[in-house]
Amino acid sequence: MERTYIGMGSNLADPAEQLRSAVEALAQLPDSRLVGVSAFYQSDSLLAGQPRYTNAVAALDTAMPPLQLLDALQAIELGQGRERHERWGPRTLDLDILLFGDRLIDEPRLKVPHYHMQARPFVLYPLAEVAPASLTLADGRTLAQLLNDCPFVGLERLCS
Ligand code: ATP
Ligand code: MG
Ligand code: MG
Repeated sequence: MERTYIGMGSNLADPAEQLRSAVEALAQLPDSRLVGVSAFYQSDSLLAGQPRYTNAVAALDTAMPPLQLLDALQAIELGQGRERHERWGPRTLDLDILLFGDRLIDEPRLKVPHYHMQARPFVLYPLAEVAPASLTLADGRTLAQLLNDCPFVGLERLCS
């Protein structure tokens, strides 16, 4: 088993309910064990005119290879009505693989670590609830350092 962290986001069709359904689906994944789920966080969309986002991060141990996990996550997205139109459009559910053990993955369909995670407060703060502060990325920076460089701005932690 390898430890993965999954970033979850939604800004359509009752986002908190979307995330709760996604957590249930993650708990059902084969050859995997859901280890933890952060609180839910709300923030304004990075793009003007979209509804606010709700985000969370799940820790999952899995024996699935990375691309198989990606397939499974995309099936969950589709099962919850994800439609892809424009890039970064509003969505019922987004599931991104943030980290997969300490692997560096550079495939056409899958880049890990997830390229934007280091600058996204709505990823780093929930991640910090389910990962140790000593978690170290391939470039040597720890989660604690990333948090230090990423102010808690515009985020609202929801009581779950
Ligand atoms: P962002 O990547 O900026 O968070 P997004 O999540 O909205 O944007 P999607 O439309 O969900 O982007 O995904 C576009 C493609 O990104 C997917 O088809 C998938 O193959 C690819 N992808 C690359 N790396 C990853 C990753 N680490 N996790 C999930 N998808 C990834
Ligand atoms: Mg995303
Ligand atoms: Mg995505």
